[in-house]
This record gives sequence, structure tokens and C-alpha cells, in this order.
Amino acid sequence: MPIARVPAKVNLALSVGGLGGDGYHPLATVFQAVSLYDHVEANPAAPGAGVSIALAGPETAGVPTGLENLAARAVDLLAAEAGRAPDVALRIRKEIPVAGGMAGGSADAAGALLACDALWGLRTPRDRLFELAAELGADVPFALLGGTALGRGRGDRLTPVLSQGTYHWVFAIADSGLSTPAVYREIDRLREGSVLTEPGVGDRLLVALRRGDAEAVGAALSNDLQRAAVSLRPKLQMTLEIAEEYGALGWLVSGSGPTVAALARDEEHSLDLAVAFTASGVCRTVARATGAVPGARIVPAAGPRA
Ligand code: ATP
Repeated sequence: MPIARVPAKVNLALSVGGLGGDGYHPLATVFQAVSLYDHVEANPAAPGAGVSIALAGPETAGVPTGLENLAARAVDLLAAEAGRAPDVALRIRKEIPVAGGMAGGSADAAGALLACDALWGLRTPRDRLFELAAELGADVPFALLGGTALGRGRGDRLTPVLSQGTYHWVFAIADSGLSTPAVYREIDRLREGSVLTEPGVGDRLLVALRRGDAEAVGAALSNDLQRAAVSLRPKLQMTLEIAEEYGALGWLVSGSGPTVAALARDEEHSLDLAVAFTASGVCRTVARATGAVPGARIVPAAGPRA
């Protein structure tokens, strides 16, 4: 049955404006999709069964299996669109850390859209899939698109960014997640009374990506949420310091954290950084991945099974 493979994301830049009247923060961000994947398999279920979710893989702690799971909401939305019952048994193999700032839930929602579209033979136009994705969450459209992209609005208004080269990442994954809303509340608290400018992404990063200059990309990484994540989880400072000490080209908290992303010079250096993180005991586990990779797609069942 159809299996969608969906990448995690890291934000190379994340600029956060002040809280708007709609309860959201306007963003300007550069996403890069990285080769750390969740797999979502859609199987037919008996009429009236509704959506069920079975989880597998190393990163499942705390993931809901009911309708709170973003993938189940995606099934419901696509079924309503197609005018059919959402009778599907999803199997989700999770390698993207949960509540880690790498958009794992959004990846699963994007995967569920694609896998159910294939299972039901809907051939939903790509533009419509992106609209449905945006209804599910701000990070879901990027999980479909992949590559490197500039995100505006809530992060869902996407423009592809010209980028060359392969970027070698090491992710230090913390022993427990951070709630994205809590991190936004913390940044509001820390910035109380400050005058905030419109969010924006500097040219330095975009030029570096266009040139494929990993060193310059490393020097241009930025994340406005980092100090909020570190304020809530002071231990992260040590993780960031290890990246610096072991010669990473750049390092930052990924999205709302608490995953720390370190950009290595090459594959060999990424192994050194991975060993340094592991040996220091600052994180639960370490993952190495490269970017940019394509967005969600249907893969042959012979790949890693969902
Ligand atoms: P983002 O980077 O988009 O802010 P995140 O990577 O920090 O998100 P997620 O892994 O997407 O966080 O999960 C956030 C919360 O969403 C989890 O703690 C969990 O309760 C809930 N959730 C719902 N569906 C899923 C899913 N399919 N996988 C993981 N978490 C999910």
C-alpha cells in the first residue's frame, strides 16, 4: 500500500515578529529539508472503521494515536474533500524527533495527505494539496515542497530559494521535547517592551546558499527563538558550545527547539561532531543528515517499511 516518505526541516534563519492580533507571530524563515524521514503508509480499513494510527520507529514517545494526531486530521480533511469516509489504517514510522523543532507532526500530516491521495486514486491537483496542507498547519506545506525555501506569513507562504551544494548536519536530540507555544510565550516575555521590526531574512544567507558556500551559510545561521529555547532549557547552552568547540561551521537551535543543529564541513567532520555530542552526554541521541532533499513523495515499499 502507498508509503509516503517525508523529510524533517531545519530553519537556517528564523525571524519572528511581534504577536499579532490574530494570535500568531509573523515570520520570515528559510527552511531546508534534511534526510531524516518519517514514513507514512496508508492501508484500507473496513467501512465505518475511521482512521487508526499504528506507530513504529525510534521516535514515538508522546505521539498521540487518536484524532489529535495531525496525520489523522489530514486523513479527515482529504476524505471530506473527496466526499468519502476516512476509513484508513495509517502506519507511521517515526525517525523525526517529537516536539524537537523539526516539524515531525507536520511531516506526518503531509505524508498522510500524499499516501491517502494515492490509496484512493484521487490525483488531487498539487495546488489544492498545498491549500489543504496550509489548513493543517503552518509547517505542512514545506513538508510537501522540500528543498530550500523562504517562508513568510506563518511560514506557509513559500518561495523556493536557489541553493547549491550538500550540507552535512548533525542533530543533537534532547531527552524531552519543548512545546512550540511555550517557546513563543517565552520569546514574548523576554522581548516585552522592545520595539520589534518586521521579520526579515538577510541577504547574507541567501547569497551564501546561492553560491553553495557552506562556511558562509554556517556564519549566517540565525534563530530568534533560540534564546527563548535556551531560557526554558538552559542545558542547551552546553550543547551549542560543544558544536563551537568541535569546529562546526555554524550551530543553532532548530526551530522552537530543543534539537540543536550543527553544520559540519563534510561527512567525516559530521562523524566527529556526532561523536563529540554523544561522548559529552548533553543529548539523548544524535542524528546525521544531509540537506537539501526533496519534499514528501511516494516511495516503493522495498524502502524502510512504515
Ligand atoms: P514544529 O517544528 O512544527 O514546531 P515540532 O517538531 O517541535 O513542531 P512535533 O513533533 O510536530 O513538534 O509535535 C508537537 C506536538 O504535536 C507533540 O508533542 C504531539 O503532542 C503532537 N502531535 C500530533 N501529531 C503528531 C505526530 N504525527 N507526530 C508527532 N507529534 C504529533
